[in-house]
Order: sequence, then C-alpha cells, then structure tokens
Amino acid sequence: MLFTSNKIQNLAPYFFSSINKKKKELIAQGIDVIDLGIGAPDLPTPSFVIEKLKEELDNPKNGTYSPYSGLQEYREAVASFYLKEYGVTLDPDTEVLALIGSKEGIANIIPAVVNPGESILVPDPGYPVYRTSAYLSDVNVINLSLKPENQYAPDFTEVDKNDIERSKLLFLNYPGNPTSATVDLSAFEHAVSFCKENQIGIVHDAAYSLVTYEGYKAPSILEVPDAKDIAVEMGSLSKSYNMTGWRIGYAVGNKEMIKALATLKSNIDTSQFMAIQKAACAALTSDHATVKENNNIYYERMKKMVSALNSIGIDVELPKGSFFIWAPVPKGYSSAAFAEQVLTEAGVIITPGHAFGPSGEGFFRISMSVSTDRLDEAIKRIANLKTGVTQ
Ligand SMILES: *Cc1c(COP(=O)(O)O)cnc(C)c1O
Repeated sequence: MLFTSNKIQNLAPYFFSSINKKKKELIAQGIDVIDLGIGAPDLPTPSFVIEKLKEELDNPKNGTYSPYSGLQEYREAVASFYLKEYGVTLDPDTEVLALIGSKEGIANIIPAVVNPGESILVPDPGYPVYRTSAYLSDVNVINLSLKPENQYAPDFTEVDKNDIERSKLLFLNYPGNPTSATVDLSAFEHAVSFCKENQIGIVHDAAYSLVTYEGYKAPSILEVPDAKDIAVEMGSLSKSYNMTGWRIGYAVGNKEMIKALATLKSNIDTSQFMAIQKAACAALTSDHATVKENNNIYYERMKKMVSALNSIGIDVELPKGSFFIWAPVPKGYSSAAFAEQVLTEAGVIITPGHAFGPSGEGFFRISMSVSTDRLDEAIKRIANLKTGVTQ
C-alpha cells in the first residue's frame, strides 16, 4: 500500500465506524435493527441554542477566522460556567482553550505534552481515543485497570512502580464511558495528591459532567485545591446540549498544558466557526433547564432497561451519570459472542466491552440515547432473549 502510512495500516478503523458498516448491511437485508451502540444523544439541540446560531449567521463578521484559542467571549463563558457550577476561578486568557469538540483536544494533548517513548496511564476500560492518540504519537500506554469491586474508581496501588515512574500523564473520565461510573471529590483529591507526588499530569475527560441523575452532581477535578498545578479538564457541549455535530468543547486548567495544546492546535487548526462559539455561550451561561429535562428522559429509559436486564438474570444497578449501562455478559459468553447473539436473535446492536480495552472483556455497553419507543421495542426483544443462561 503506497499511499497509507504504516501507522494507519496498523490502525483498525474506529470501532464504531465498523459497527455502522455492519448495521447498514443488516438493514439492507431487511432486518429491523435497533442500535444501542450509539454514543450520541438522540434528543434535539435546545431551540434557544439554535435560535442564537440563526441570529449569528446573519452577522458577516462571524464568517472570518476565529482567534486561535477561541473567542474571548467563549472563553469567558466557560470561565463563568466553572465559577457558577463548581466555584472554580479560571483566567479566560491562560486557563481556557476552545476545542473543536473534546475528542480533538484529547487526541492532541498527548503529542503536545508527552514525548515519544514516554508513557501515559489510561483507564481500562476507557474511551478509545486515549490509546489511539498515544499509539499515533509513539507514546506507551499503561492500563489503569478499573474494577467493578472498586466501583471503577482508580486504584493506584495496582500499578507497577516502574510504570508509575515512567508515566507523564494520567487520563480519568467520570461520569465514565463506558462504565457509567461516578466518583465524589475525594477520588479526585486522591488522584491529585498521588499524581503530584509522582509528577504526573492529569487530563480529566468530563464529557458527561452534566448528565447525572437523582440529585447526584459530578464534581470537577479543578475543585480540588491547587489541582491546576497538574490537571486539565476537557469538557464538551456534545452530550449535555445535544450538540455532537456542532463540534464545540473546551480545555481548562493547568496553564502550561493549555499553552502547549494551544501551540500545537494553532499550527494545525484555526478553532471553530464563531457563530457556533456564540451559540455555545448561550448554552453555557443558561440555567441548564434543558439538560435536566434530558436527564429525566434518560433516567426513565434507564429504569426500564435495568429492570429488563435484571429480569433475564443480568446483574446491573442504576447508574448516577452518563447515558450508558455497563453490564456483565451472561456466564459462558465472551463479550463478542454475546453481542453477536443479541444481534442475530434480537436485531439489537450492543457494544462488546473489549472495544474499550482488555478489562472490558466480559461486559457490554448499551446506550439510552435511543428514542423511547425504539428502546421499549429493544427491551421487549431483550426480555425474550433465549440466552439459556439465566443465572
Ligand atoms: C463523546 C465523548 C467525548 C467527545 O465528545 P466531543 O463530541 O468530541 O466533544 C469525549 N470523551 C468521552 C468519554 C465521550 O464519550
């Protein structure tokens, strides 16, 4: 292959793009496929955000290049969001950076901060982008195995001493994808003090920060005093404001990492369309009433799905955050075999856990971001599954 680099030849297609291919094939065969593999909200972008975008589209000034780090107004809106939500003060000029969706920030911060041959600690199971970006930057991945018996909180005592010494960055993600795990501030306090002691930077991926249930409020890692000495947090409007396609997020926190990331980005991109940044300001500075409405919808769906899973013997509890359910496959199945069986028997796509790292084996992830009537149909089919292994 002349026109494909070795790196890319060895890189499997993004897991979810290969699932999409399979889904298309099945639909072409006339199968009524329900996709619970989706990791994006099905609910619409709130209308006040759309109205703001429409208004900004008429302003010709918005059609020029954005400042590299994002509009001042956008960075200020992010800072005021942090002050109001978390009581955290941020300098919009040095501690806030606009992202074209947090996925690119997560991918780009690795080459911006870590040298080839150095290592990073990555949650296992975890969002696949951490390890893929490390691979592309010749950075070694050390799995931080997250265990159900610890409610998927990090346990640093499990990590080899030499691995800790070699590590430059730690990725964390709460509420978590795929595990839907949540933590309280003490877990972040512990991580910050561990990483300070070992001179490791932290990137906290807070994509689901506002997607929480039953009065639980997800903390920001920056609420830990002096966390900014070593930590950045990446956030996104994708999941809370149903704006996945708009591509707008932010990195906040440690000045040195923000500057390194801004330097890399300014050489390869020119930030997001200013009209989108301004519409995002409206979302960030709102009272988040629409987020709460969405969360209520997800939670109703969660309750139904959890009881359907329990009824076929799959042991799972209601999560406090994210729109995922992470559950063990029935005894005797691998993740892949169970996903295959659910697809052929029920026409339902679920994501096998191994897609998220070696510790994901033996689990599967399903998403509640599917319209309620389709989800009801999926629940009916799952409840009728003949897995033959009801425990
Ligand atoms: C969806 C998601 C992201 C990326 O979202 P963007 O649309 O790129 O902002 C990042 N991390 C996790 C864990 C996610 O699930």
